[in-house]
Amino acid sequence: MSQSSAISESIPLGAECTLEAVLAAWHEATLRLEQTHAALREEVRLLTHELEIKNRELARKNRLADLGQMASHVAHEVRNNLVPVALYLSLLRRRLANDAVGLEILDKISAGFTNLEATVNDLLQFTAEREPQLSVFPIRKMIDEVLSAVAPQLAAQAVAAVVEASPDMLVTADPHLLRRAVLNLVLNAIDAMPQGGTLTIIATSDQQALELEVSDTGPGFSEEALHKAFEPFFTTKRGGMGLGLAIVARVAEVHGGSVSAVNCPEGGAALTLRIPHRTVKECAA
Ligand code: ADP
Repeated sequence: MSQSSAISESIPLGAECTLEAVLAAWHEATLRLEQTHAALREEVRLLTHELEIKNRELARKNRLADLGQMASHVAHEVRNNLVPVALYLSLLRRRLANDAVGLEILDKISAGFTNLEATVNDLLQFTAEREPQLSVFPIRKMIDEVLSAVAPQLAAQAVAAVVEASPDMLVTADPHLLRRAVLNLVLNAIDAMPQGGTLTIIATSDQQALELEVSDTGPGFSEEALHKAFEPFFTTKRGGMGLGLAIVARVAEVHGGSVSAVNCPEGGAALTLRIPHRTVKECAA
């Protein structure tokens, strides 16, 4: 409201239009203007704050993109050089067929080689900018497949696995990406229970999304890890790469979903992956 219209509204017409009335109206209009000014200033402050956050986010994303590009370049170089080494290793294995000590050493080299390959694949997976290839499939089957892939680790560490997921519960997702995310969550849970424990995987579904909770009976997240766990290259493990949960977050993001981590009141950590349901039309788009 303009100052003059505010004054004219408040001044009684006629003889009693005294100087006091004019001053009071003027005072009231000034007050209202001051309030509007304060509200606008607050609005500007909030918007500036929001802009600062967005700028910081953008700077972080740009930094990550640069980092990703560099990591991808290194990973490709390493992988190209791993291919002939794998060939030489298999040639050597044939030559050492009757040499038990030689074969033992070769096994150790192979184990290191496999770890290196897994690291390079993690890096490539993390930096890959591919669109998800969506299909509809039962989540229970995928969980069972992941668990049978890690059966030796579960047995070696005396970890019991409990699954609560209906066999006919469907999810619309990229099976390759989702399997990778579930595997990373399961491997982390196993890592958290070197002395044994229980790994629980629960799948639930509501109108909007499918939720997959992977929990363990380990020590839970440290205070720092709880805040930084999803950042790439954050790790508290010796020899850890810090890409496992960053990949899970990326998988959630490309599906339009989310992932969160909490420490359970009864101990242990719980990670929840949320993948929104899609219609067939959305999948085709
Ligand atoms: P990495 O396994 O190579 O350390 P991740 O990104 O998978 O990388 O995990 C990052 C960090 O988050 C771990 O080093 C650990 O500190 C923490 N973390 C992840 N999962 C769990 C879990 N289930 N329980 C406790 N801490 C966890």
